[in-house]
Amino acid sequence: MIRLTPWRTVLIPGLDEAGGKQIDAALISAWPSPWITDPVDPRLSVVACSGAPACHRATTAVQADAARLSTMLALRPAAGPVLHVSGCRKGCAHGQAVPLTLVGRAGRYDLVRNGKAADRPALTDMTIESLAAVLERECVS
Ligand code: SF4
Repeated sequence: MIRLTPWRTVLIPGLDEAGGKQIDAALISAWPSPWITDPVDPRLSVVACSGAPACHRATTAVQADAARLSTMLALRPAAGPVLHVSGCRKGCAHGQAVPLTLVGRAGRYDLVRNGKAADRPALTDMTIESLAAVLERECVS
């Protein structure tokens, strides 16, 4: 029996090691996005809303950009999220301050440091590529 938790995780009790490896292999190759089965997966450091095209308020591909940045920056899971990628200032995915928040606006991003999506940005009107370069230079993990 599969159990869903309030923390958006799935538990499959009673699997032996071989069964666990089979499930792991299937989930890692899942389309369109591999499931997270590793407790140090860098995506565990990131929260992101649905973004474009799922949300009409979004102008950026939040999910894809968040996945790309989490891998590029080699983030390590911490006590809480390190990076919040939000499609707009509403910040649906995370209501608390985090070290880095990207806020989509007119197809680009603003960067808020140590704050929430609605807070004053430190950098504005950045492409995801230029933001990645800025963040890569900093130690964010
Ligand atoms: S934060 Fe903005 S773009 Fe993201 S889901 Fe909420 S309303 Fe949509």
